[in-house]
Amino acid sequence: MNMSIECEVTECKYNNELEKYCMLNKIKVVKHDGIANNIEITDCSSFEMR
Ligand code: SF4
Repeated sequence: MNMSIECEVTECKYNNELEKYCMLNKIKVVKHDGIANNIEITDCSSFEMR
C-alpha cells in the first residue's frame, strides 16, 4: 500500500478498498486532451479493472 497515493477507485485491481490507497509503487497520470483545463481531462492510466 502506497500511503503517498490516495485513491477512491475501488474498481481498480490495484486499489486497497478498505484504506482507499493505491498499492502500486508509482502510477502514471495522463491527459485526454491537449490542454488540461479541468479535472476531467486528467486520469490514472495505471488503472486496471478487477
Ligand atoms: S492504479 Fe490508479 S486507479 Fe488504480 S488504485 Fe492506483 S491510483 Fe487508483
